[in-house]
Amino acid sequence: MDLEKIEAGVRLILEGFGQEKLSEEMWANTPRRVAEALAELCYGLDRNPEDEIEVTFQEPYDEMVVLRNIPFHSLCEHHLLPFIGRASLVYLPKGGRIVGVSKLARVLQVAAARPQLQERLTSQVADALMEKLRPHGVLVQIEAEHLCMTIRGIKKPGSVLVTSAIRGLFRTDPAARAEALALLSRSATS
Ligand SMILES: [Zn+2]
Repeated sequence: MDLEKIEAGVRLILEGFGQEKLSEEMWANTPRRVAEALAELCYGLDRNPEDEIEVTFQEPYDEMVVLRNIPFHSLCEHHLLPFIGRASLVYLPKGGRIVGVSKLARVLQVAAARPQLQERLTSQVADALMEKLRPHGVLVQIEAEHLCMTIRGIKKPGSVLVTSAIRGLFRTDPAARAEALALLSRSATS
């Protein structure tokens, strides 16, 4: 991450606004502050979401594991504005391979800490879990509000984009998928 380059870019944006309209303090310090904030929001660019998953082996457990309503934020790659929401996921373990809850949240966090598309984020989380856990199936659902839609453009506050990624057994077995979706949909009322 080249902080100086980002800082120079922000200075250009401020020049574009018209330097004379801006306070001296802003002109002097905002480029560095914005660069640091962007670097923090995009730390995931230098990491691999899969690396966050540590597989642990426990008592044979072959029932669905559900984690609902994990809060996250990301930056939309079209406008570099935040999108903020919650993710829920279900997986059906195979061979006793399971993963700690905090690791599941970290996969999402690392994948979200970069300019993203919600659709791609959803797939990346599902694919990371499939690759490292090799479960029977994975279902990931993400709901988020995109500031590029709610504070500018068509300005529809409160509108929520919902995406899902379905892998393995949940794709091929309608009964298993229905059960997984039922487990997830409870999050809407709880
Ligand atoms: Zn956008």
